[in-house]
Amino acid sequence: MTERTMNITLHVWRQDNPGKPGKFERYEATDISEHSSFLEMLDLVNEGLIKDGKDPFSYDHDCREGVCGMCGMVINGIPHGPQAATTTCQLHMRKFKNGDELWLEPWRAAGFPVIKDLVVDRDAFDRIIQAGGYITSRTGSAPDANGIAIDKKTADAAFDAAACIGCGACVAACPNASAMLFVSAKITHLGLLPQGQPERKDRARKMVAQADAEGFGGCTNHRECEAACPKEIKFANIARLNRDFIGAMIKAPDDVPKPQPVR
Ligand code: SF4
Repeated sequence: MTERTMNITLHVWRQDNPGKPGKFERYEATDISEHSSFLEMLDLVNEGLIKDGKDPFSYDHDCREGVCGMCGMVINGIPHGPQAATTTCQLHMRKFKNGDELWLEPWRAAGFPVIKDLVVDRDAFDRIIQAGGYITSRTGSAPDANGIAIDKKTADAAFDAAACIGCGACVAACPNASAMLFVSAKITHLGLLPQGQPERKDRARKMVAQADAEGFGGCTNHRECEAACPKEIKFANIARLNRDFIGAMIKAPDDVPKPQPVR
């Protein structure tokens, strides 16, 4: 079978820092193998720029196996690109055609300021986790399997929510730049299990307060987050988050958590 190669035109968002205006710049990716990953294609374009003494464009990546949550950019208006349930690093050039024109942008949200080009600062997600995404029960050494009986349906649902890699595509896809799908995944994976019960409601309140402080918007049921999520985190988790949050507010309406300082 012969290998198909293609030429692609890229319009890449270039921005030196959050304080400076950015703009698209045009690059040509030539003779790209259909078997290349999307990031390998970008690597080749950057190698050409370096060879010509030009500034390569910046983009996030790490494991390139779809599990670390580092990579992510908006490709022709879609966070992570045109293939459903796929991170940018797992996207391959066979998904594109010779002559395609691609517009690459960073996540756009007040809570994710641009560091450079396609790289955004996602520390806000870490602060949301620090605000309440933990359990206080002793974990100790590895417990015996089935030491705490959890039915399979519940264990599977908790595991599905734990698949969230914190990439931020849900925020980039949402017209309100809401982080609710991310927060709800963390709430659900801890809140479904017995070990997550002691802080369950407080956790929802603290994480929502931190998400608000970081500048993420509220959920108004567009469901774009669910469509963009590479780990297929379910929108229904947001209902669970809302239940825990409302329950906490009814119990102690004046006890509003103080968010951690936002940079
Ligand atoms: S919910 Fe999905 S899109 Fe949002 S951070 Fe987690 S994995 Fe990424």
